[in-house]
Amino acid sequence: MVTETQATVERDARLSQGRWLRIPGPTVVHPDAVIAQTRDMVPHRGPLMTAFMGELFLKLKKAHRTESNVLVWPGSGSAGWEAAITNFLAPGDRVVATVGGSFGARWASIGEQFGLDVRRVEVEWGQPVPPDVFADALTRAGEVRAVFITHNETSTGVTNPLPELAALARQAGTLVLVDAVSAAGAMPLETDEWELDWVLSGSQKAWMCPPGLMIAAVSDRSLRATARSGYPRFFWDVREMAKAADASATLTTPPLSLLFALDAALDVILAEGLERVWTRHDRLGRFVRSALTDLGLRLMAEDGYASASITAFSPPGEMSASGLRDRIADASGIEIAVGQGAHADTINRIGHMGWVEEPELAATIEAIARQITAR
Ligand code: PLP
Repeated sequence: MVTETQATVERDARLSQGRWLRIPGPTVVHPDAVIAQTRDMVPHRGPLMTAFMGELFLKLKKAHRTESNVLVWPGSGSAGWEAAITNFLAPGDRVVATVGGSFGARWASIGEQFGLDVRRVEVEWGQPVPPDVFADALTRAGEVRAVFITHNETSTGVTNPLPELAALARQAGTLVLVDAVSAAGAMPLETDEWELDWVLSGSQKAWMCPPGLMIAAVSDRSLRATARSGYPRFFWDVREMAKAADASATLTTPPLSLLFALDAALDVILAEGLERVWTRHDRLGRFVRSALTDLGLRLMAEDGYASASITAFSPPGEMSASGLRDRIADASGIEIAVGQGAHADTINRIGHMGWVEEPELAATIEAIARQITAR
């Protein structure tokens, strides 16, 4: 395991090389995860792996605050959208979906491609979904089987009020299906307490791992709902995967190296303490927003619903988002992101989730400051 001092040395070395990935994922892989993924393979159905998976599942449950299964597939976050649809729903089912950016919109449109009756609760980009608007949409929709909630909209840097939205959905008797891709591991998530039925994420965000894993907490309610699904499935069969997980295994050959990385990253997260990790992200979000505001830049989201894991802002004056990104990358090697959809070239986004502290964010802000003052 890399010690705290070694980790600091590595961070300083990367900073002095002026190399830092500050996009909203993939994020910087924690050094412990980098080392762990170089382990050699072992038989995936042997006793070593069974013991390893048993431990990994326990750590995942802790990180998701649930007693239920947390499943892991080779895949990316998007697979979690599709798996939710094909396992818990049937063609024609009505769902209410939060849409405040490109990821919420994509999940809603995938639902339509699978023949669901999707009722969108659309808000302007940069805004959260207000609970009263969501409640109203649920009432107007009538019989709703499930809600799709984007916990943190990565395209805008907005965090939706998940506990409130989930409570309204539970009152309405629907399944609560949550996209926590850029939220899990960065901000408060109480899967059991908030009665969430499916919480999907990807290894490449706050979990500090390379891309390649889809991780999903699944409730007993969801497992029961699989009985009435109208879709064929094998690889993404949640019931079969949950049965395998109960035996500390996976349905198919697992991506061992990524699981080793995830296990090491979870050790780092749990050693810091989940709540401390959440508080650190909250602090970093405030740090970035206040520094950008001090530079006279306009933020897309206001405090109160601004994300702890990613911040979106407008480049100054006539500068395009891609222009600012490229200038920063050329001058300092730091990679920030542009926007998406209609905002592709009008906003920039900084990721601050996972293995990150103030020094590298200060370096990012400095790199931005140099480019906007050098105009
Ligand atoms: N949902 C959100 C909120 C995301 O930010 C992303 C990716 O950034 C996805 C879903 C899709 O995940 P992936 O690209 O891992 O398939």
